[in-house]
Amino acid sequence: MIPYGHQSIDENDVEEVVKVLNSDWLTTGPKVSEFENIICEYVGCKYAIAVNSGTSALDIAVSSLDLPKGSEVITTPFTFVATSNALLYNNLKPIFADIKKDTRNIDPEDILRKITAKTKAIIYVDFAGHPCDIDEIKKIAREYDLRLIEDASHAFGASYHGKMIGNFADLTVFSFHPVKPITTGEGGVVVTDNPELAEKVRLLRNHGIDKDAATRYGPDAGWAYDMKMLGRNYRMTDIQAALGISQLKKLDGFIGRRNEIANLYNELLDGCEFVETPITKEGVGHGWHIYTVLLNESINRNEFFKYMRKNEIGVNVHYIPIYHFSYYREHFDLDENDFPETEDVFNRIITLPIYPGMKDEEVELVVKTIKAWK
Ligand SMILES: *Cc1c(COP(=O)(O)O)cnc(C)c1O
Repeated sequence: MIPYGHQSIDENDVEEVVKVLNSDWLTTGPKVSEFENIICEYVGCKYAIAVNSGTSALDIAVSSLDLPKGSEVITTPFTFVATSNALLYNNLKPIFADIKKDTRNIDPEDILRKITAKTKAIIYVDFAGHPCDIDEIKKIAREYDLRLIEDASHAFGASYHGKMIGNFADLTVFSFHPVKPITTGEGGVVVTDNPELAEKVRLLRNHGIDKDAATRYGPDAGWAYDMKMLGRNYRMTDIQAALGISQLKKLDGFIGRRNEIANLYNELLDGCEFVETPITKEGVGHGWHIYTVLLNESINRNEFFKYMRKNEIGVNVHYIPIYHFSYYREHFDLDENDFPETEDVFNRIITLPIYPGMKDEEVELVVKTIKAWK
């Protein structure tokens, strides 16, 4: 089976992890701050706080905004559940806006329609590594005084109008799950240029305690510390950070290969009557976390899915819209008719395999299999 996504781990990654295992610090040690520093350098931002997952990063990014309980936050339904779950953890109400068919990203015009007096923030997701219409979203945020969180779990290394993703919202979140642009096994990071938000996120990562293990270590350090807010243990280990440091050196190469694969798909699928290939907007540096196509209306997606899987192509569906899930239906008044674009995309979308280690011949095999459909 050719999987839809896969990590790329080499001997160097393994060596770096083994070095940490033989060192004094397995967690909260020097590798975590080194990883944070090189993330800042790479993105061109001021602060990075590494945590144990992208979901944890979203949770404390939202928490750091201190929004009043029950506030509404507008987000996309066409994402992994972690995006809007982060709002539920923080007693906030997700309000879903419809998406644009071409990029599957949140539609700024529908954001405008969903704004009420209770709206306090927007979480936008760069679907597949294609940045949202960030200029339009920032304009809305300025006009209505809304905070912005960018869930860039798909978009580490992507860019928008010449600037790296991580420089646009109040807080940006990246994920280091194995299928994401780089991996630490599990892991994530919050980046920001705002010193107050960075400080809060740092506290929230470690129980709300104002001194971490490293600052309480050594001949001049004291024993005292304060707990200033109700945080969690979302700390990243040095084992993970060492893997992340080694992976980050290869990110541009990974993204280069992802772009080659996407271009090859676009070329080979050009004119194929069964699928609509994805677009890349002007000014966008695409991360190509996933490569999705829309099937022609006459094709039954579920039959096509089975056909591809039988032929050992690990296709997938990203995403089941969040308002389809029973938990959300039980707790919120949601009607799929309010999201015509999301519904149409959901019914026709299929994810084809893409990952840096994928060979041209495998891309050709995927395309050949698609073209042999009935
Ligand atoms: C992967 C992902 C997350 C969650 O990240 P984890 O590291 O798996 O916790 C959140 N949002 C989106 C859009 C994702 O794809």
